[in-house]
Amino acid sequence: MIIVKIDRDGCISCGECWGSCPELFIEDPEDGLSSIRERYRIAGKVDEGSAPDQFEACLKEAEEACPAEVIRISPPSPSFD
Ligand code: SF4
Repeated sequence: MIIVKIDRDGCISCGECWGSCPELFIEDPEDGLSSIRERYRIAGKVDEGSAPDQFEACLKEAEEACPAEVIRISPPSPSFD
């Protein structure tokens, strides 16, 4: 799994993240800022999520594309199989 966090205080609502990784990010309809899609949220938090490794590429793309540099992802967990 990959942990992703958004520092929403710094989000400028540019849309790069939900454009490059719409599976994980959405524009929050209430404040227009980036949020984690509900199914991937940790404890219901809009700014913190846990995503399957298959989304690593698009998460990295979103992290790199964010002009405000407010998206952080952790490396995937080591595989034990
Ligand atoms: S790319 Fe960054 S600044 Fe732009 S909407 Fe996403 S989190 Fe906000």
